[in-house]
Amino acid sequence: MPSPVIRVRDLSFRYGEGDFRLHIPELEVGTASSAAIIGPSGSGKTTLLHLIAGITLPQAGKIETHGVDVTTLSESARREFRVKHIGLVFQEFELLEYLSVLDNVLLPYRINSALELTSVVRDRAREIADQVGIADKLARYPGQLSQGERQRVAVCRAVLTEPAVIMADEPTGNLDPLNKGRVLDILFDYAEASGTTLLTVTHDHDLLERFERVVDFKELLS
Ligand code: ADP
Ligand code: MG
Repeated sequence: MPSPVIRVRDLSFRYGEGDFRLHIPELEVGTASSAAIIGPSGSGKTTLLHLIAGITLPQAGKIETHGVDVTTLSESARREFRVKHIGLVFQEFELLEYLSVLDNVLLPYRINSALELTSVVRDRAREIADQVGIADKLARYPGQLSQGERQRVAVCRAVLTEPAVIMADEPTGNLDPLNKGRVLDILFDYAEASGTTLLTVTHDHDLLERFERVVDFKELLS
């Protein structure tokens, strides 16, 4: 495997409430590689992505992403790290209904002082929107889009910052086969062109052959 961009060791996590426990002895994901994580609903896949992104902190263990152990950073440093180096496509897309499509794509730049919204970034946003076929919808609001279009907005937002790692949580859920293919094409094209690692959670067994590696979530656990 190429040198790992994600390196997890002896990770232990539980939520403040409930019985759920996660323990992962080891996980490494290579730089510029693609991996799909599969596993039953409720097993902790989304939780793992949030831990790798530094959204939540584990009770024990190391999580090194892009050379930084996110568990050692303060909350504000974690947020800055995440916004600069990780592109997230959330399971529910997390589009803001009161912002236009363009402003949703630009959101990371609007809410983080670590990122500067320049005319170059705006041009890039339009270019990416064009590549994924939503250039004519930038002035609309999310409520005026189809599910597939909403998903593409989320993908545009995730790649805009040129992250080292893109993590997508069931990015093709609720999509028809044509749109599934399109969303994955966008993610793979982008990842290949820019040497980005793609870590995806998916239930979709038809799509697995596109990934270099398939990780069975159960086998990560101890
Ligand atoms: P998956 O993505 O594999 O479906 P999740 O990571 O979303 O699984 O959830 C793993 C487990 O953690 C589930 O049992 C879920 O109910 C529980 N869980 C998720 N979020 C929270 C939370 N904020 N507080 C307590 N328990 C949670
Ligand atoms: Mg999930």
